[in-house]
Formats: sequence, structure tokens, C-alpha cells
Amino acid sequence: MIAAFDIPVSKVERSKLNDTPLENIPFGRYFTDHMLEADYENGEWKNVEIKPYQPLLLDPSLAALHYGQAIFEGIKAYRDEQGNAYVFRPEDNFRRFNKSAERMNMPPVPEEIFMEGLRKLIALDKNWIPAMKEHSLYIRPLMFSTDTMLGVRPSETYKFLIILSPTGPYYAAPMKIVVEEAYTRAAPGGVGFSKNAGNYGGSMLAATVAKQQGYDQVLWTDAFEHKWLQEVGMMNVFFVINGVAVTPSLEEGTILAGVTRDSVMTVLKEMGITVEERRISIDELLEAYGKGALQEAFGTGTAAVIALIQELKYKEYAMKFDVSKASIALEVKERLAAIREARTPDTHNWMWKV
Ligand SMILES: *Cc1c(COP(=O)(O)O)cnc(C)c1O
Repeated sequence: MIAAFDIPVSKVERSKLNDTPLENIPFGRYFTDHMLEADYENGEWKNVEIKPYQPLLLDPSLAALHYGQAIFEGIKAYRDEQGNAYVFRPEDNFRRFNKSAERMNMPPVPEEIFMEGLRKLIALDKNWIPAMKEHSLYIRPLMFSTDTMLGVRPSETYKFLIILSPTGPYYAAPMKIVVEEAYTRAAPGGVGFSKNAGNYGGSMLAATVAKQQGYDQVLWTDAFEHKWLQEVGMMNVFFVINGVAVTPSLEEGTILAGVTRDSVMTVLKEMGITVEERRISIDELLEAYGKGALQEAFGTGTAAVIALIQELKYKEYAMKFDVSKASIALEVKERLAAIREARTPDTHNWMWKV
């Protein structure tokens, strides 16, 4: 067992912080002074250390580059007025990380390394958490295979890293979405529920084609009939039909179990709104829209938290939503912001103190 104080730390000689203005900083472009790194070899994790953020030296035959054993997480940290650092539900991300690892035939990362490494790293780079409203520190844990040989088999060695990136408000403009009927993101038995790099690689072309047609993203549908709804881009999706919030269920393994999705469902129930996790088809949406019963549509994820949908295009139909009237989505967004900013009691213990 590795306790936090056992993780060796080598600090930068000079912090980059004074040269990095944190206000309105774009997402994922700047990184803090330090990173955590660990190696898996001979069946165990070793060389766990926190050190200056720096490039890696990689062999061209590195297994991850060829065969794609690569997973990651996305988490956010905040700072309160007293200067204390808090992370939003990191244990959920830790558990999901190891589920992704299992599916990709990679070794689990022990809790002591993931959670205590995270705690120690954030404590060290705490001053990088922007104090401005809606700013945060984005946390990116990742793991990839590091065997240097071209034989196709699960790698025997892996690298685990945590890097930190200060980020400004994520302006989530209301999205125009096209229902995807050609490409598939995930199928039952596949890897859709895991947060692996290949899911992103496989989705880029569909998003590019959507952009060429004037849309921001696609609404993914099932692989067989292209009618059962899955996710919107790389976010989970919710619809409000006749006052009931509906989101696709997880059981087929084609949907990423978002921490935001879970938080949104919890908050919706607290607002007295019925939440249904079930299969939902594009035909049901069209029918509800036709009757005036489809009130709101939105995506959820750590980066944007909630992103409203203003238009949903399917074949010759364009369903339009007045986002200024998306009162349920906007209320959920505000309630989550109030928890993050400690304006309301954190009754679920979602804010993990560093
Ligand atoms: C990360 C991710 C989400 C959102 O998950 P959160 O835990 O809410 O950030 C949704 N869908 C996909 C495909 C993702 O990769």
C-alpha cells in the first residue's frame, strides 16, 4: 500500500504560474507545473512519482500507438473562497477508470495511487485552480500500453499519468444536432461503455461530416436499426417529454455511464421530476414533438456540465427547441453550480476535499 506521503515529489525549480494568465483560459491547452507518473511492470505498479510536467520519450513500436490500449478520465477541481481545493466525485471516476481498464485488458490502477496521487498532485498545484466563477482545474488521468514490440497481444507494461489543466468557463452554445444514420459509435458487446481513446478516434469523422452540413454534433443511434438513441457527441443525452426526464439506459453497454448523467438524475429527482432510464427511439421523439410534448433536449458531461440542444435533425424533420424555455435543464445546471460553489449544502458528499 502506497500512502500519499510515500509518493516522492520532485518540484519544478521555477513555476510557470506567473506566466500563465488563468482568466478565461481555453480548455485543455495549458498544463500545471507537475504531473504524476507510474509504471506497471512484472505484474506490479512501481516508480510512482510526482515530477515536473514534461514530454515523454516513446519508442516508435510503443504498443498503445499501434493497438490502442489507451484509456482516460476527465474530472474537475474547484477552489472555494477560503482557498480550499475540492474535486467533484473523483471516486466515481476512479471506479470507472478501472472498468475501462478491465474491458481493454489492462491492469487496474490501485486506489492508493489514483486517489492519493491525485490528492497530493492537486495539493501541490493548488494555486493553479482558477478562483474565478465557472473556472476549474480539469484533471486528466490516463493509462496506455508501453510494450515495445509489434506482436498483437495485451501489453505486459503500462504507464499511468495524471496531468492537470486550468480551464475557463466552457461556453456551451446551444447545439444543432443531426441524428446519425450511417456511422456507429457503439454496439452491444463492444467498448462503448469504456472511456478509451479509440471511441473518440472512431467518432471524429461523423462529427466532421455533421459540421460540414452545418451541425455541431451527432446524436448516436444503435448499430442495427439506427433508431434507438445513445449519446450526443461525447455527452450523455436527456429529453424532457411531458414533464418526465428520459435518458437512454446503460444495460446494453453502448453508453458511457457519465458521472454528470448520474448527478443530473439525482438532482432531477430532488426537483420532484420523474426520471426514466430506458430505451428511447427517434420515432418516439418525433411523435412527442408532433404533439408538443417534447419540451427539452440536452447533453451532459464534465466539460460543459449541461449543453442545451436547439435543433435536432432527422431525415426531413427538424425539431426545434426554444432554449430560453429549457427551464428544467437550466434549473439542474444552477443546482449543480450551487453545490460546486458551496452556496447550498453538499448533501451527497460530492465535493471531495483535497
Ligand atoms: C466522458 C464521456 C461522457 C460524460 O461523462 P462524465 O463523467 O459526465 O464526464 C459521456 N459520453 C462519453 C462517450 C464520454 O466519453
